[in-house]
Amino acid sequence: MSLSNSSVNLLGGRLSIDFVNAAPTNAELSWDRLIRFLQSTGIVSSERGIQLLVLPQSDPQTSDALLFKARRLSFGLRKVFAATLRRQKLAGEWIEPVNEILRVTEGHDELVAQEGDWKIEFIAREGGLDWLLAAIARSGAEIIAEGSRARLRLCANPHCGLLFYDNSRTRERRWCSMAVCGNRSKVAAFARKHASARNSS
Ligand SMILES: [Zn+2]
Repeated sequence: MSLSNSSVNLLGGRLSIDFVNAAPTNAELSWDRLIRFLQSTGIVSSERGIQLLVLPQSDPQTSDALLFKARRLSFGLRKVFAATLRRQKLAGEWIEPVNEILRVTEGHDELVAQEGDWKIEFIAREGGLDWLLAAIARSGAEIIAEGSRARLRLCANPHCGLLFYDNSRTRERRWCSMAVCGNRSKVAAFARKHASARNSS
């Protein structure tokens, strides 16, 4: 797998938004993509991520169970965020996958040494891998609980489709990334202006 295909966009400002952005809109979340996401957000270490990548070969039952939950969570959160943007009511069936993860993830935090630093890691009381989705579900739950106060936005570039949380002081952030979509729009506006100036002369 090439690096560009596996790179995960983390511009959302909230873990659950990045999670939704990581899954393609027209396809289901793949195992590789899920593990890359957990790695790039620091939910698992790179060593753990490498072990997890081959889990479907050694323990397909466990990996299938996690992937199923992750897809349900991604689907539910996508629906929730889309409805939040349109100020529509949230359906209970979209909330259920979030609650499902929150419910099974009893445990505690613990400091663990990782690559020379100390990191707070969640230690689940129950077995299984559902705890890997705990922080994502928690982040989603927080946005849902914010309701209409949630500063959830859709990138102003109509071809982009990425969501983000507007943490800007002015609350006027329009682009997922100024460097990518913001810049592209500026270039297009400049080209239009330039073209009309040329036409009028
Ligand atoms: Zn964008």
